[in-house]
Amino acid sequence: VKSIAVLTSGGDSQGMNAAVRAVVRSALFNGLEVYGVQKGYTGLINDDIRKMDLRSVGDILHRGGTILQTARCLEFKTEEGQKIAAENLQKRGIDGLVVIGGDGSYKGAQKLSKLGIKTMGLPGTIDNDIPFTDFTIGFDTAVSIVVDAINKLRDTMTSHQRASLVEVMGRSSGDIALYAGLASGAETILVPEIPFDLEKVAARMENNFAHGKRHSIIVLAEGVGKGEDFCKIISEHCGMEPRVTVLGHIQRGGTPTHNDRILASRLGDFAVSQLMAGDSGKACGIIKNELVATDIDTVVSTKKEFNHDLFELALRLSK
Ligand code: ADP
Repeated sequence: VKSIAVLTSGGDSQGMNAAVRAVVRSALFNGLEVYGVQKGYTGLINDDIRKMDLRSVGDILHRGGTILQTARCLEFKTEEGQKIAAENLQKRGIDGLVVIGGDGSYKGAQKLSKLGIKTMGLPGTIDNDIPFTDFTIGFDTAVSIVVDAINKLRDTMTSHQRASLVEVMGRSSGDIALYAGLASGAETILVPEIPFDLEKVAARMENNFAHGKRHSIIVLAEGVGKGEDFCKIISEHCGMEPRVTVLGHIQRGGTPTHNDRILASRLGDFAVSQLMAGDSGKACGIIKNELVATDIDTVVSTKKEFNHDLFELALRLSK
């Protein structure tokens, strides 16, 4: 390839900017032309594509969000939309595309690769729900935000000997809840991957308080249900109603952690080298510290495995 483009698509995540910067700077370093597409696939269809230089990505490494903006684009799901998108790239002589996003965005990249565009996917989502990479870009930062919030909640809960339920993001994945729960010593972690009995959760909480515990933190993954509903059920079983905190979109903002910046930098550079080697239709990831490119078809048809060992560990340590 001689000329590539980069876009961010779907839900944004911290570190997307770091990934865009890495793609642009690595491409320029290797003598390629590089273009930025605004608002994901919408920009491809609307021809909102501009040439990038070294300075276009200055001062963004540490910023959350994405300078390229992101969007959900229905038109791109149609064959007609995909054809227009591919043509807009081809008329500029752009033959490679890096798509930074989640599994929906990967499906889009898959379609474009079938229309002759060489594509590479980078996992940009806080949810950590993309397989064939240990972590997705943004996950580490989101977990840090949750841990920080739980630290604060714990202070005030301890003062009042109260229970707290924290609802976190993750869509159908329990990873944010699991990692944040383990890192903050939560008493209970409720995730979609592991069945649970709320009656037992309530009984355990009551018992722990009776035996001198001064606070109780329950972390609930949004994929399980609404925090408010769970608190009501718990209070029916034990007479104590945990206070609910729904962290919401603050989990997607703020400066990325060094882990996310390094992950994004390595993956962005790797995507460019894969495209230069003529590879296409792959998703990039890091598994056990090794850079890997896996067929997008395989990635989108595989569910990420839940880390049962970590879950068991969190259980053992949270007595
Ligand atoms: P994410 O990438 O975070 O999973 P979405 O599922 O919203 O987010 O997908 C982002 C965009 O990718 C969609 O708005 C759409 O333009 C494109 N997309 C999603 N699924 C498909 C598909 N099956 N075929 C083509 N494009 C798709």
